Amino acid sequence: MKRIAVLTSGGDAPGMNAAIRAVSRTCDFNEKECLGVTRGYEGLIDGDFIPLNRAAVGGILHKGGTMLKTARSSRFKTEEGVQEAKQQMQAAGIEGLVVVGGDGSFRGAKELHDVGVPTIGVPATIDNDIAGTDETIGFDTAVNTALEAVRRLRDTASSHDRLFIVEVMGRNAGFLPLEVAVATGAEYVVVPELPLSIGNLCHKLRISHENKKSHTLIILAEGVMTANEMKDKLQDTGGYDARVTVLGHIQRGGSPTSFDSVLASRMGAYAAESLFVGKSGVMVGNVSGRMTLSDLERAWLEQKTLSPELLGLIEKLN
Ligand code: ADP
Repeated sequence: MKRIAVLTSGGDAPGMNAAIRAVSRTCDFNEKECLGVTRGYEGLIDGDFIPLNRAAVGGILHKGGTMLKTARSSRFKTEEGVQEAKQQMQAAGIEGLVVVGGDGSFRGAKELHDVGVPTIGVPATIDNDIAGTDETIGFDTAVNTALEAVRRLRDTASSHDRLFIVEVMGRNAGFLPLEVAVATGAEYVVVPELPLSIGNLCHKLRISHENKKSHTLIILAEGVMTANEMKDKLQDTGGYDARVTVLGHIQRGGSPTSFDSVLASRMGAYAAESLFVGKSGVMVGNVSGRMTLSDLERAWLEQKTLSPELLGLIEKLN
């Protein structure tokens, strides 16, 4: 293998640039050539390739977002789209591909693998909802961004004896909200993985009130309902007047934390080296601190579960 390429796809995540840099520099170290594909699978179909030598990836390690841009591509979801992408790669002499993205992007990576293009996935999403790795790139940064915002709200909530609902990202997974809830000492966390009874929540709020708890923080996962819907339900069921904050897209940006920078560097390097030794159809993972490879299908066939220990802490400590 002399020349490989790297692309970023789906939702952006802090640390994607660090992964791109690691793929490029690992190529350079092993005397291989690296190309970058702009705009994910869209760019692959259009043959939008740029040289990614050592110098081209200088100064990006600490930057959020992705220098290659990311896109969603409906064309790539068709057989013709996959074939066009394969032809573009062959024409450019690209012998392998690293796909940095979430589970949707990995489905695309599997399509390429199935038509004979060596492809490896690097999991990057702030949602951390991919089985086969303890953490995805971007998760730690998003947790820390949300943590800082919620700590500020806590200051206000405690000064005014208020009930706050904070809506946190994570799509249909509760990893980000749960981590933020434990780190901020939130009284309640509402995640898609667990059933929610508004009556039960109102009952707990009443007990908190009776125990003279002055202010209360509810961390709500966006996949359950909107914070405004929850506010209305708490008002209708228990007469509670909650303040609402939606953290939104600020959780996706910013410089990666040291954890994400290191994770992305390790994963990008491991993905490139795995391609060089003939691996394909697999994703890189960080399992108990070690780099691993597992089948791409795990990303969508296997449900990653929330830590019962962390869930227990919300109940015990707050
Ligand atoms: P993420 O990777 O963050 O989960 P998406 O689910 O939007 O993001 O997927 C990113 C892109 O991956 C899609 O726009 C599409 O081009 C490609 N993709 C997703 N699912 C498939 C599929 N079943 N077959 C081929 N390509 C897919």
